[in-house]
Amino acid sequence: MEGIIIKGIAGQYHVRVGDQTHTCKARGIFKKKGLKLLVGDRVRIALDDYDQAQGVIEEVHPRQTALIRPPVANVSQAVVVFAIKHPDPNINLLDKLLAICEHNQLEVVICFNKVDLDNEHLVNHYQKVYESAGYKVIATSAKEHVEIESLKSCLNDQISVFAGPSGVGKSSLLNEIQEGIRLEVGGLSEKIGRGKHTTRHSELMVLPCGGMVVDTPGFTAVDITIIELEDLSSCYREFADLVDQCKFNNCRHINEPGCAVKAAVAEGDIYESRYESYLYFIKAIEEHRRYKSW
Ligand code: GDP
Ligand code: ZN
Repeated sequence: MEGIIIKGIAGQYHVRVGDQTHTCKARGIFKKKGLKLLVGDRVRIALDDYDQAQGVIEEVHPRQTALIRPPVANVSQAVVVFAIKHPDPNINLLDKLLAICEHNQLEVVICFNKVDLDNEHLVNHYQKVYESAGYKVIATSAKEHVEIESLKSCLNDQISVFAGPSGVGKSSLLNEIQEGIRLEVGGLSEKIGRGKHTTRHSELMVLPCGGMVVDTPGFTAVDITIIELEDLSSCYREFADLVDQCKFNNCRHINEPGCAVKAAVAEGDIYESRYESYLYFIKAIEEHRRYKSW
């Protein structure tokens, strides 16, 4: 039987197979080999003859991806959430998260939340910028249940992680998506309720609408310098098709002549703000390199 580990505590793993959950132990061989099982791992299990709710994990399939924080395997998609207001979107951070997602080969859905506060329709501009960059963008309100169905349909068949700064409505959106699970909105009682020494284990929530979601936000501390200088342009979706047209094949798209990316910025095909964040990250990565080589 093939399933996915959705929860693991003290050597007990909850493995989801279809719409059933089985409690499994891992074979001793995993420990011997030093192989740590992760939530999200795809596994083969054998059920107990006498109790079908119990089983043993016999084999782990190779991981497609492995997030470190939270430690979850096979995450396929990031839902990058920003509020349109309160707090204002931090575009630099948004572009950084997007680049990191590309670097990790994750599908991306960008979600601008709190549209109920958006009297000036600011979201239209952001929607244009990021759709033209090649992203799926949805404008939600967790408070007024706007576009929650669209969000749900994006989660189908994926293992998704929610990312974005605190206060933007990630927990509220997760609550909207799944009735029954109640995450702490505001995050306050979570911090108080949990003792200093209790470790928080991430779990996968199985959604009634299909798909699974990591119950803790990922990419909380992102560092752009994990991306190599030469790879950054491929982490900007709208640059990727153009770079072959640059005059120099080692073009960094800064001030080289015959640069197709700069030309596209001048033409208005690439938004200034995207190009500016690119330059900003190039500098950050260069500085990091210089520092390392001292
Ligand atoms: P998180 O830190 O990203 O998980 O954000 P929370 O879900 O804890 O929400 C932070 C605050 O924003 C809470 O006070 C929520 O009630 C509020 N909030 C969340 N979604 C919306 C929304 O769509 N509209 C409005 N007006 N407030 C929201
Ligand atoms: Zn170029």
